[in-house]
Amino acid sequence: MSQEQIELAAEWIAKSKRLVVFTGAGISTESGLPDFRGPDGVWTRRDKGLPPPKSKPWHSVDPNAAHYAIVELQNLGLLDFLISQNVDNLHLKSGIRPKLLAELHGNTTLMRCLQCDRQMTHEEAGWDQKIFGPGYRTSPSQPHQPQCPYCGGRIISSIVNFGDPLPENELNTALDHSKTCDVFLAVGSSLVVTPAAYMPQMALQAKAKVILLNEGETPFDKAVHIRIHGKAGVILPQIVERVKQLLQSD
Ligand code: NAD
Repeated sequence: MSQEQIELAAEWIAKSKRLVVFTGAGISTESGLPDFRGPDGVWTRRDKGLPPPKSKPWHSVDPNAAHYAIVELQNLGLLDFLISQNVDNLHLKSGIRPKLLAELHGNTTLMRCLQCDRQMTHEEAGWDQKIFGPGYRTSPSQPHQPQCPYCGGRIISSIVNFGDPLPENELNTALDHSKTCDVFLAVGSSLVVTPAAYMPQMALQAKAKVILLNEGETPFDKAVHIRIHGKAGVILPQIVERVKQLLQSD
């Protein structure tokens, strides 16, 4: 990581008209949630025959400096859209407006109606997980389980498990933004989980400037315009601080 990379990334972001940020599990490791493919990730440890990494209880985890740096970009009016593979609710908890966010793999705190596609909290749905379980798409229906309070349809967990389709609206919105952005900033993702991983590719094809901030290697390392190796919670606030200075000096 060099100061020049931070400076250039900040210049591009400050001048951007349609900034898209894309995040993966790596942005939440500094909050205490393990990722899958980082050095201490769930899959990495499993492949070495080690037990799963320690994790804080998901409901007690708070956003870290990297999540809040993205909120600052939103509050500066620079964030056109945020695409996340994370299910940890930390972007919404940090203050990202739901309209600016597509959570491609769902959110552990939200249920979804299969009929009207509306998302709602467990409380809103009247869904007690102790009684009705997680409510995954493939879970058998429980007697007397709540229906959608808005349309009466079947509600399921918004979490996308292996084999489940991605939520269509979120996926299409995310694809549209990836094809039309002018700066694409990917943070904390190994960029191997498809179809999300096609999004940086689309941004490159659309001639957007692509910035990649990740500790580990990705298949896009040589293709992107700026590749920053480092911790999201350390680097992203530095970039945003510099963005603010550049906007003030304009
Ligand atoms: P991944 O585990 O494949 O990759 C994470 C990447 O982030 C790794 O390359 C790692 O080196 C890097 N990283 C770790 N900590 C970092 C930090 N502090 N700063 C910068 N980089 C850091 O994650 P992925 O690409 O998001 O794909 C994994 C899948 O697992 C996704 O589908 C996601 O839904 C799911 N997942 C989500 C969570 C979560 O919601 N927090 C946690 C684990 C897994």
